[in-house]
Amino acid sequence: MAGTTPDFDAVVIGAGFSGLYMLKSLRDKLGLRVRVYEAGDTVGGTWYWNRYPGARCDSDAYIYVCTWDKQLLQEWEWSERYPTQPEILRYLEHVAKRHDLKRDIQFGTRVTGGEFDEGTNLWKVHTDKGEEVTARFLIAAVGTLSATNLPQFKGLEKFKGKWYHTSRFPKEGVDFTAKRVAVVGTGATAVQAIPEIAQQAKQLTVFQRTANYCVPARNGKVDPEVTKARKADYDGIVKRIRESFFGQEHYFIPKSALEVSREERERELDKRWDAGGFAFWLANYQDMFFSKEANEVIADYLRRKIRATVKDPKVADKLIPQGHYYGTKRQPLDTNYFETFNKDNVLLVDATADGKIEEITEKGIRAGGKEYEFDIIVFATGFDAMTGPLKALNLKGRGGRTLDKEWVDGPHTYLGVSVAGFPNLFTITGPQSPSVLSNMPVSIEQHVEWITDCIDNMRKTGKTTIEATPQAQDQWVAHVNEIVNMTLMTSANSWYMSANIPGKPRAFLPYLGPEGVGGYRKKCDEVAAKGYEGFQLA
Ligand code: NAP
Repeated sequence: MAGTTPDFDAVVIGAGFSGLYMLKSLRDKLGLRVRVYEAGDTVGGTWYWNRYPGARCDSDAYIYVCTWDKQLLQEWEWSERYPTQPEILRYLEHVAKRHDLKRDIQFGTRVTGGEFDEGTNLWKVHTDKGEEVTARFLIAAVGTLSATNLPQFKGLEKFKGKWYHTSRFPKEGVDFTAKRVAVVGTGATAVQAIPEIAQQAKQLTVFQRTANYCVPARNGKVDPEVTKARKADYDGIVKRIRESFFGQEHYFIPKSALEVSREERERELDKRWDAGGFAFWLANYQDMFFSKEANEVIADYLRRKIRATVKDPKVADKLIPQGHYYGTKRQPLDTNYFETFNKDNVLLVDATADGKIEEITEKGIRAGGKEYEFDIIVFATGFDAMTGPLKALNLKGRGGRTLDKEWVDGPHTYLGVSVAGFPNLFTITGPQSPSVLSNMPVSIEQHVEWITDCIDNMRKTGKTTIEATPQAQDQWVAHVNEIVNMTLMTSANSWYMSANIPGKPRAFLPYLGPEGVGGYRKKCDEVAAKGYEGFQLA
């Protein structure tokens, strides 16, 4: 029955950066019949859902783009160094319109399940609208940080005020004026939201479980001459970010932080601090992620910055990170974050010690035996990262296997793009690929192009299924772990380590390759050049 004609050649799930480009490539390059399902009512993915105050991109706008649309690279003008959520949404709407993508996207529709039929070699896909369609290929473009993590706080249903999760903020916004507001969480999202909310709220109380090493974003207008020069050099920029470690124009200092004099080190750190953005994190001394001693001298610099900014030494003490090495949790970029704790209307509660959240009450939050009253609670508590959105698809591969069972001890993938036992399923920026450790569009485009070439090759060679072999997958998983185990990353209770969700098996989720995204790209290309080594084609 392998010759049965499916409803679609490919079903793509999600219409963010990845789903849009996947649709464009399969439909306009290969001429396939494609259906995209998207739960939101328009395109955008992450940028559709994350509408919290202060939401903006942490990558510089000039590299947070669809590099596949060269004309648009020249035409589009970003208003600031880091675009806001509405601006990115406008950009993606524009992309969808320019390429007439919406006609193949069914909005307001969530994929609720899918089974691989071993008789027909087709995926049968179900949606919450009661549809059932078949497709040769199933492509998950569901994002890495899209499954909301709302901790199971006792009593939330009793709260008489309003509560929101940052990843599901109302479209019309929330007016915090004259309100008593709580923010739970101090990750990259909260670090953006807290200074904005503090400007409006009568009283803002921040419940912090883990303090973070933040560095300044230094947002602002970009010098038109710089923009002009970048536009003239886009081919060069695209080549460099594709070959780079993190999909950005940042490069480690090829020295140890310990081999240089204190003066030289301070000068280098000052330069990165003053430049703002990810330079401090991703263009620092090369041993920062490996050597505790090197990491410590850099962390010390950041601790001094916090003490110099926060007026009350007791508050500064609470804001100084403890228990994890610098850079092992995602770098939050801030605009007046530490300064916000100098405001009279802002209170910081240490939610690990005397302020541990016990329950949500009718009036607010009981923490450390004390009840705090609020009109609004904002949960900035993050995501069930990387594996969460894929598990939520309820897919059944060969023999009815599920990701829940296959991944009971953490993800098992081959190259982060394929899972053994799930033929013709591709996961864009899936677990154990560089994805979240890179500037996302760079990794997204690499996967989309690799998947497109793979499907094209299958058609040309008359193959109907491709799946990772269990052996290749085991080797990849071992390789991912071997590399990360050489670094300090595994020591942190980060979402990278799956440690933010109680009961989630502790495992490093992305892939930190020895040569970053550039090396990973080479590896994927080699696999293809060797006839899709590690895959079984039939
Ligand atoms: P996050 O980094 O996971 O932070 C969640 C926060 O909530 C943490 O402070 C966490 O504390 C706290 N938390 C979780 N459960 C809690 C509980 N039961 N009680 C008290 N506190 C609790 O999530 P996020 O800030 O949403 O960021 C997730 C990722 O999204 C980022 O790392 C980044 O990759 C991405 N992001 C990107 C941008 C951008 O580029 N524009 C902006 C924002 C976010 P612990 O640290 O102790 O777990």
